[in-house]
Amino acid sequence: MKELSHIAQAVQASTTLAIDSMFKQMKAEGSDVIGFGAGEPDFNTPDNIKEAAVKAIEENKTRYTPAAGIMELRKAACQRLREDCGLDYTPTQIVAASGAKHSVYIALQVLVDSGDEVILPAPFWVSYYELIKMAGGVPVIVTATEAEDFKLTPEKLAAAITPKTKAMILNNPSNPTGMMYTKAELEAIADICVKNEIYVIADEIYYGLVYDNREFTSFASLGSAVKDLTILVNGVSKSYAMTGWRIGYTASNDQIAKVMSNYLSHSTSAPSSVSQWAAVEALSGPQDGILAMRDEFEARRNYIVERINQIEGVSCLNPEGAFYVMMNIEKLIGRTFGEITIKDSDDFAKAFLEQGLVAVVPCSGFGAPNFVRWSYATSMDNIKAGLDRLEKFLAQ
Ligand code: PMP
Repeated sequence: MKELSHIAQAVQASTTLAIDSMFKQMKAEGSDVIGFGAGEPDFNTPDNIKEAAVKAIEENKTRYTPAAGIMELRKAACQRLREDCGLDYTPTQIVAASGAKHSVYIALQVLVDSGDEVILPAPFWVSYYELIKMAGGVPVIVTATEAEDFKLTPEKLAAAITPKTKAMILNNPSNPTGMMYTKAELEAIADICVKNEIYVIADEIYYGLVYDNREFTSFASLGSAVKDLTILVNGVSKSYAMTGWRIGYTASNDQIAKVMSNYLSHSTSAPSSVSQWAAVEALSGPQDGILAMRDEFEARRNYIVERINQIEGVSCLNPEGAFYVMMNIEKLIGRTFGEITIKDSDDFAKAFLEQGLVAVVPCSGFGAPNFVRWSYATSMDNIKAGLDRLEKFLAQ
Protein backbone atom coordinates (compact mmCIF):
# COMPACT_ATOMS: atom_id res chain seq x y z
CA MET A 1 0.00 0.00 0.00
CA LYS A 2 1.11 3.56 -0.62
CA GLU A 3 2.29 5.52 2.38
CA LEU A 4 -0.03 7.76 4.36
CA SER A 5 0.59 11.50 4.44
CA HIS A 6 3.94 12.37 6.02
CA ILE A 7 2.41 15.34 7.81
CA ALA A 8 -0.38 13.24 9.29
CA GLN A 9 1.92 10.42 10.34
CA ALA A 10 4.15 12.84 12.20
CA VAL A 11 1.29 13.87 14.50
CA GLN A 12 2.01 12.53 17.99
CA ALA A 13 -0.59 11.13 20.33
CA SER A 14 -0.95 13.41 23.33
CA THR A 15 1.94 12.95 25.77
CA THR A 16 -0.49 13.24 28.64
CA LEU A 17 -2.28 10.16 27.38
CA ALA A 18 -0.07 7.57 29.10
CA ILE A 19 -0.88 8.80 32.62
CA ASP A 20 -4.50 9.45 31.68
CA SER A 21 -5.07 5.92 30.40
CA MET A 22 -3.36 4.45 33.49
CA PHE A 23 -5.61 6.65 35.65
CA LYS A 24 -8.75 5.53 33.83
CA GLN A 25 -7.77 1.88 34.02
CA MET A 26 -7.06 2.09 37.76
CA LYS A 27 -10.39 3.84 38.30
CA ALA A 28 -12.25 1.22 36.26
CA GLU A 29 -10.64 -1.48 38.39
CA GLY A 30 -12.10 0.17 41.48
CA SER A 31 -8.97 1.93 42.75
CA ASP A 32 -9.55 5.10 44.81
CA VAL A 33 -7.51 7.39 42.52
CA ILE A 34 -7.95 11.18 42.27
CA GLY A 35 -7.36 12.96 38.94
CA PHE A 36 -5.89 16.44 38.48
CA GLY A 37 -5.52 16.22 34.72
CA ALA A 38 -8.76 17.87 33.63
CA GLY A 39 -8.49 20.85 31.31
CA GLU A 40 -12.12 21.77 31.80
CA PRO A 41 -14.22 23.42 34.51
CA ASP A 42 -16.00 20.98 36.84
CA PHE A 43 -19.06 23.28 36.83
CA ASN A 44 -22.13 22.67 34.67
CA THR A 45 -23.06 25.02 31.82
CA PRO A 46 -25.28 27.75 33.37
CA ASP A 47 -29.05 27.25 32.96
CA ASN A 48 -29.70 30.39 30.88
CA ILE A 49 -27.25 29.09 28.26
CA LYS A 50 -28.79 25.62 28.19
CA GLU A 51 -32.25 27.17 27.85
CA ALA A 52 -31.11 29.24 24.87
CA ALA A 53 -30.00 26.04 23.15
CA VAL A 54 -33.32 24.31 23.85
CA LYS A 55 -35.15 27.35 22.48
CA ALA A 56 -33.01 27.28 19.33
CA ILE A 57 -33.99 23.64 18.75
CA GLU A 58 -37.66 24.37 19.37
CA GLU A 59 -37.51 27.28 16.94
CA ASN A 60 -35.91 25.04 14.32
CA LYS A 61 -32.67 26.96 14.20
CA THR A 62 -31.14 23.73 13.08
CA ARG A 63 -30.00 24.47 9.54
CA TYR A 64 -26.69 25.43 7.94
CA THR A 65 -25.38 28.80 9.05
CA PRO A 66 -22.86 31.09 7.33
CA ALA A 67 -19.37 29.51 7.45
CA ALA A 68 -18.01 32.12 9.87
CA GLY A 69 -21.06 31.87 12.13
CA ILE A 70 -24.41 33.58 12.60
CA MET A 71 -24.32 37.38 12.71
CA GLU A 72 -25.83 37.34 16.23
CA LEU A 73 -22.82 35.39 17.52
CA ARG A 74 -20.30 37.57 15.73
CA LYS A 75 -21.98 40.69 17.15
CA ALA A 76 -22.07 39.18 20.65
CA ALA A 77 -18.34 38.43 20.43
CA CYS A 78 -17.68 42.05 19.38
CA GLN A 79 -19.68 43.31 22.35
CA ARG A 80 -17.78 41.07 24.79
CA LEU A 81 -14.38 42.05 23.38
CA ARG A 82 -15.35 45.72 23.57
CA GLU A 83 -16.67 45.56 27.15
CA ASP A 84 -14.02 43.23 28.58
CA CYS A 85 -10.90 44.10 26.59
CA GLY A 86 -11.53 47.56 25.13
CA LEU A 87 -11.24 46.16 21.60
CA ASP A 88 -13.07 47.47 18.59
CA TYR A 89 -13.81 44.81 15.97
CA THR A 90 -16.59 44.67 13.38
CA PRO A 91 -18.76 41.51 13.23
CA THR A 92 -17.25 40.51 9.86
CA GLN A 93 -13.84 40.37 11.52
CA ILE A 94 -15.10 37.65 13.87
CA VAL A 95 -14.92 34.06 12.63
CA ALA A 96 -16.55 31.33 14.71
CA ALA A 97 -15.11 27.81 14.70
CA SER A 98 -15.69 24.47 16.40
CA GLY A 99 -13.81 25.26 19.60
CA ALA A 100 -10.80 27.47 20.31
CA LYS A 101 -8.47 24.63 19.34
CA HIS A 102 -10.09 24.63 15.92
CA SER A 103 -9.64 28.41 15.78
CA VAL A 104 -5.90 27.99 16.41
CA TYR A 105 -5.81 25.27 13.74
CA ILE A 106 -7.49 27.50 11.15
CA ALA A 107 -5.32 30.48 12.11
CA LEU A 108 -2.18 28.44 11.50
CA GLN A 109 -3.55 27.04 8.24
CA VAL A 110 -4.12 30.53 6.84
CA LEU A 111 -0.80 31.97 8.04
CA VAL A 112 1.74 29.23 7.49
CA ASP A 113 3.32 27.87 4.31
CA SER A 114 5.56 24.82 4.31
CA GLY A 115 8.85 25.60 6.07
CA ASP A 116 7.68 28.81 7.77
CA GLU A 117 8.90 29.13 11.33
CA VAL A 118 6.46 29.71 14.19
CA ILE A 119 7.86 30.82 17.54
CA LEU A 120 6.42 28.87 20.44
CA PRO A 121 7.26 29.99 23.97
CA ALA A 122 7.71 27.06 26.39
CA PRO A 123 6.20 25.80 28.62
CA PHE A 124 3.43 25.47 26.02
CA TRP A 125 0.07 23.81 25.64
CA VAL A 126 0.93 20.58 23.89
CA SER A 127 -1.51 20.97 20.97
CA TYR A 128 0.25 24.10 19.64
CA TYR A 129 3.34 22.10 18.76
CA GLU A 130 1.40 19.55 16.73
CA LEU A 131 -0.87 22.17 15.13
CA ILE A 132 2.16 24.10 13.82
CA LYS A 133 3.54 20.93 12.24
CA MET A 134 0.11 20.03 10.81
CA ALA A 135 0.20 23.35 8.94
CA GLY A 136 3.62 22.43 7.50
CA GLY A 137 5.35 24.92 9.82
CA VAL A 138 8.48 24.51 11.93
CA PRO A 139 8.00 25.10 15.68
CA VAL A 140 10.81 27.19 17.14
CA ILE A 141 10.71 26.65 20.89
CA VAL A 142 11.91 29.45 23.13
CA THR A 143 12.04 28.39 26.76
CA ALA A 144 11.00 30.72 29.56
CA THR A 145 12.35 29.56 32.91
CA GLU A 146 10.66 29.49 36.29
CA ALA A 147 13.00 32.33 37.37
CA GLU A 148 11.49 34.35 34.50
CA ASP A 149 7.99 33.50 35.80
CA PHE A 150 7.66 31.30 32.69
CA LYS A 151 7.26 34.41 30.54
CA LEU A 152 8.96 35.03 27.22
CA THR A 153 11.44 37.92 27.44
CA PRO A 154 11.87 40.40 24.55
CA GLU A 155 15.56 39.44 24.36
CA LYS A 156 14.81 35.75 23.88
CA LEU A 157 12.10 36.54 21.33
CA ALA A 158 14.41 38.80 19.31
CA ALA A 159 17.14 36.14 19.32
CA ALA A 160 14.76 33.50 17.91
CA ILE A 161 13.68 35.54 14.87
CA THR A 162 15.04 34.53 11.45
CA PRO A 163 14.01 35.53 7.90
CA LYS A 164 11.71 32.49 7.94
CA THR A 165 9.75 33.57 11.05
CA LYS A 166 6.12 33.98 10.07
CA ALA A 167 4.25 33.96 13.35
CA MET A 168 4.34 33.34 17.07
CA ILE A 169 1.82 31.92 19.50
CA LEU A 170 1.23 33.81 22.72
CA ASN A 171 -1.05 32.17 25.27
CA ASN A 172 -2.06 34.60 28.01
CA PRO A 173 -2.99 33.62 30.74
CA SER A 174 -1.10 30.44 30.06
CA ASN A 175 -1.89 26.77 30.08
CA PRO A 176 0.11 25.13 31.70
CA THR A 177 1.82 27.84 33.79
CA GLY A 178 -1.15 29.99 34.85
CA MET A 179 1.07 33.07 34.48
CA MET A 180 -0.13 36.31 32.96
CA TYR A 181 1.84 39.03 31.17
CA THR A 182 1.65 42.64 32.33
CA LYS A 183 0.84 45.41 29.88
CA ALA A 184 4.48 46.56 29.85
CA GLU A 185 5.72 43.03 29.13
CA LEU A 186 3.26 42.69 26.26
CA GLU A 187 4.26 46.07 24.84
CA ALA A 188 7.90 45.00 24.67
CA ILE A 189 6.90 41.82 22.81
CA ALA A 190 4.52 43.71 20.52
CA ASP A 191 7.26 46.18 19.51
CA ILE A 192 9.45 43.34 18.28
CA CYS A 193 6.57 41.68 16.41
CA VAL A 194 5.65 44.92 14.65
CA LYS A 195 9.28 45.71 13.76
CA ASN A 196 9.73 42.25 12.24
CA GLU A 197 6.20 41.90 10.81
CA ILE A 198 5.44 38.75 12.74
CA TYR A 199 1.84 37.59 13.02
CA VAL A 200 0.71 36.76 16.54
CA ILE A 201 -1.84 34.14 17.40
CA ALA A 202 -2.94 35.50 20.78
CA ASP A 203 -4.81 32.72 22.57
CA GLU A 204 -6.68 34.51 25.35
CA ILE A 205 -9.21 31.80 26.16
CA TYR A 206 -8.48 32.08 29.92
CA TYR A 207 -8.85 35.88 30.09
CA GLY A 208 -12.04 35.57 32.19
CA LEU A 209 -10.20 33.52 34.83
CA VAL A 210 -7.77 36.05 36.30
CA TYR A 211 -7.17 36.42 40.05
CA ASP A 212 -6.17 38.97 42.72
CA ASN A 213 -8.06 41.72 40.85
CA ARG A 214 -5.26 41.78 38.28
CA GLU A 215 -5.94 43.67 35.10
CA PHE A 216 -5.86 41.63 31.92
CA THR A 217 -4.43 43.29 28.80
CA SER A 218 -5.45 41.92 25.44
CA PHE A 219 -2.53 41.83 23.00
CA ALA A 220 -4.53 43.45 20.17
CA SER A 221 -5.38 46.42 22.40
CA LEU A 222 -1.79 47.70 22.23
CA GLY A 223 -2.22 49.74 19.04
CA SER A 224 -3.41 49.49 15.46
CA ALA A 225 -0.14 48.07 14.05
CA VAL A 226 -0.12 45.17 16.49
CA LYS A 227 -3.88 44.67 16.15
CA ASP A 228 -3.44 44.26 12.41
CA LEU A 229 -0.91 41.45 12.93
CA THR A 230 -2.91 39.67 15.63
CA ILE A 231 -5.31 36.79 15.33
CA LEU A 232 -7.03 36.86 18.69
CA VAL A 233 -8.36 33.45 19.75
CA ASN A 234 -11.13 33.18 22.29
CA GLY A 235 -14.12 31.02 23.06
CA VAL A 236 -16.75 29.96 25.53
CA SER A 237 -15.31 26.63 26.70
CA LYS A 238 -13.45 27.74 29.81
CA SER A 239 -15.18 30.89 31.10
CA TYR A 240 -18.72 29.56 30.63
CA ALA A 241 -18.11 25.86 31.37
CA MET A 242 -19.02 24.93 27.78
CA THR A 243 -16.23 22.57 26.68
CA GLY A 244 -18.58 20.12 24.98
CA TRP A 245 -20.46 22.72 22.93
CA ARG A 246 -17.40 23.34 20.73
CA ILE A 247 -17.51 27.06 20.01
CA GLY A 248 -14.41 29.20 19.64
CA TYR A 249 -13.82 32.35 17.65
CA THR A 250 -11.12 34.58 16.25
CA ALA A 251 -10.91 38.34 15.77
CA SER A 252 -8.52 39.54 13.09
CA ASN A 253 -8.11 41.96 10.19
CA ASP A 254 -10.57 41.77 7.27
CA GLN A 255 -8.26 39.88 4.92
CA ILE A 256 -7.41 37.16 7.43
CA ALA A 257 -11.08 36.83 8.46
CA LYS A 258 -12.12 36.40 4.82
CA VAL A 259 -9.51 33.72 4.10
CA MET A 260 -10.38 31.87 7.31
CA SER A 261 -14.04 31.95 6.41
CA ASN A 262 -13.31 30.53 2.93
CA TYR A 263 -11.18 27.79 4.48
CA LEU A 264 -13.95 26.87 6.94
CA SER A 265 -16.60 26.83 4.21
CA HIS A 266 -14.82 23.85 2.64
CA SER A 267 -14.02 22.00 5.86
CA THR A 268 -16.61 22.16 8.66
CA SER A 269 -19.07 24.45 6.78
CA ALA A 270 -19.80 26.06 10.17
CA PRO A 271 -19.98 25.11 13.86
CA SER A 272 -23.18 23.49 15.16
CA SER A 273 -26.09 25.93 14.85
CA VAL A 274 -27.53 25.05 18.27
CA SER A 275 -24.16 25.59 19.97
CA GLN A 276 -23.84 28.93 18.26
CA TRP A 277 -27.15 30.08 19.75
CA ALA A 278 -26.04 28.87 23.18
CA ALA A 279 -22.82 30.87 22.77
CA VAL A 280 -24.82 34.01 21.86
CA GLU A 281 -26.53 33.74 25.26
CA ALA A 282 -23.21 33.04 27.02
CA LEU A 283 -21.56 36.13 25.54
CA SER A 284 -24.46 38.55 25.65
CA GLY A 285 -26.51 37.29 28.63
CA PRO A 286 -25.83 37.97 32.33
CA GLN A 287 -22.15 37.59 33.24
CA ASP A 288 -22.44 37.08 37.03
CA GLY A 289 -22.25 33.26 36.70
CA ILE A 290 -18.69 33.44 35.47
CA LEU A 291 -17.68 35.72 38.33
CA ALA A 292 -18.92 33.14 40.84
CA MET A 293 -16.91 30.40 39.09
CA ARG A 294 -13.84 32.62 39.04
CA ASP A 295 -14.10 33.27 42.79
CA GLU A 296 -14.29 29.55 43.47
CA PHE A 297 -11.23 28.90 41.28
CA GLU A 298 -9.35 31.64 43.13
CA ALA A 299 -10.11 30.07 46.53
CA ARG A 300 -8.85 26.71 45.26
CA ARG A 301 -5.72 28.30 43.81
CA ASN A 302 -4.94 29.96 47.12
CA TYR A 303 -5.26 26.66 48.94
CA ILE A 304 -3.26 24.51 46.52
CA VAL A 305 -0.38 27.00 46.22
CA GLU A 306 -0.07 27.41 49.97
CA ARG A 307 -0.09 23.67 50.59
CA ILE A 308 2.43 22.83 47.84
CA ASN A 309 4.88 25.40 49.15
CA GLN A 310 4.62 23.94 52.67
CA ILE A 311 5.63 20.47 51.49
CA GLU A 312 9.33 19.57 51.58
CA GLY A 313 10.83 18.77 48.16
CA VAL A 314 8.31 20.55 45.92
CA SER A 315 7.38 24.17 45.18
CA CYS A 316 5.34 26.31 42.82
CA LEU A 317 4.85 29.88 41.68
CA ASN A 318 1.56 31.63 42.40
CA PRO A 319 -0.44 31.41 39.14
CA GLU A 320 -2.35 34.55 38.22
CA GLY A 321 -4.96 33.03 35.92
CA ALA A 322 -6.42 29.88 34.25
CA PHE A 323 -6.80 26.83 36.54
CA TYR A 324 -3.39 25.18 36.55
CA VAL A 325 -0.37 25.07 38.85
CA MET A 326 3.07 23.91 37.75
CA MET A 327 4.81 22.06 40.58
CA ASN A 328 8.61 21.99 40.52
CA ILE A 329 9.93 18.46 41.23
CA GLU A 330 13.62 19.17 40.56
CA LYS A 331 14.61 18.36 44.15
CA LEU A 332 13.07 14.90 43.83
CA ILE A 333 15.31 13.86 40.95
CA GLY A 334 17.43 10.90 41.98
CA ARG A 335 15.03 9.84 44.77
CA THR A 336 13.53 6.36 44.62
CA PHE A 337 9.88 5.57 45.29
CA GLY A 338 9.21 1.83 45.36
CA GLU A 339 10.82 0.52 42.18
CA ILE A 340 10.92 3.91 40.45
CA THR A 341 13.94 6.23 40.54
CA ILE A 342 12.88 9.73 39.49
CA LYS A 343 14.72 11.08 36.44
CA ASP A 344 12.01 13.46 35.22
CA SER A 345 8.34 14.39 35.52
CA ASP A 346 7.22 11.26 33.64
CA ASP A 347 8.76 9.04 36.35
CA PHE A 348 7.31 11.19 39.11
CA ALA A 349 3.80 11.16 37.61
CA LYS A 350 3.94 7.36 37.22
CA ALA A 351 5.18 6.76 40.78
CA PHE A 352 2.70 9.24 42.29
CA LEU A 353 -0.19 7.62 40.46
CA GLU A 354 0.77 4.01 41.17
CA GLN A 355 1.83 4.51 44.78
CA GLY A 356 0.19 7.78 45.86
CA LEU A 357 -3.07 7.24 43.88
CA VAL A 358 -3.03 10.76 42.41
CA ALA A 359 -2.89 11.61 38.69
CA VAL A 360 -1.03 14.79 37.73
CA VAL A 361 0.19 15.69 34.25
CA PRO A 362 3.92 15.43 33.53
CA CYS A 363 5.10 18.58 31.73
CA SER A 364 7.77 16.80 29.67
CA GLY A 365 5.50 17.21 26.63
CA PHE A 366 5.00 20.90 27.43
CA GLY A 367 8.71 21.74 27.23
CA ALA A 368 9.20 21.65 31.04
CA PRO A 369 10.58 18.21 32.04
CA ASN A 370 11.05 19.01 35.75
CA PHE A 371 7.47 20.06 36.39
CA VAL A 372 4.08 18.43 36.78
CA ARG A 373 0.78 20.23 36.24
CA TRP A 374 -2.11 20.13 38.67
CA SER A 375 -5.45 21.32 37.35
CA TYR A 376 -7.63 22.74 40.12
CA ALA A 377 -10.78 22.38 38.06
CA THR A 378 -11.94 19.83 40.62
CA SER A 379 -13.64 20.00 44.01
CA MET A 380 -11.99 21.45 47.10
CA ASP A 381 -12.44 18.04 48.80
CA ASN A 382 -10.46 16.38 46.03
CA ILE A 383 -7.80 19.07 46.22
CA LYS A 384 -7.40 18.60 49.97
CA ALA A 385 -7.23 14.84 49.65
CA GLY A 386 -4.76 15.05 46.75
CA LEU A 387 -2.39 17.26 48.71
CA ASP A 388 -2.67 15.06 51.81
CA ARG A 389 -1.65 12.17 49.57
CA LEU A 390 1.29 14.15 48.17
CA GLU A 391 2.50 14.88 51.69
CA LYS A 392 2.24 11.22 52.63
CA PHE A 393 3.85 10.03 49.39
CA LEU A 394 6.87 12.30 49.80
CA ALA A 395 7.28 11.51 53.49
CA GLN A 396 8.04 7.82 52.84
N1 PMP B 1 -6.28 27.08 24.15
C1 PMP B 1 -5.80 26.69 25.35
C2 PMP B 1 -4.63 27.39 25.91
C3 PMP B 1 -6.38 25.61 26.04
O1 PMP B 1 -5.89 25.23 27.23
C4 PMP B 1 -7.48 24.95 25.46
C5 PMP B 1 -8.15 23.77 26.13
N2 PMP B 1 -7.35 22.91 26.83
C6 PMP B 1 -7.94 25.39 24.23
C7 PMP B 1 -7.33 26.45 23.60
C8 PMP B 1 -9.06 24.69 23.52
O2 PMP B 1 -10.30 25.15 23.85
P1 PMP B 1 -11.60 24.54 23.14
O3 PMP B 1 -12.13 23.49 24.06
O4 PMP B 1 -12.55 25.69 22.99
O5 PMP B 1 -11.19 23.97 21.83
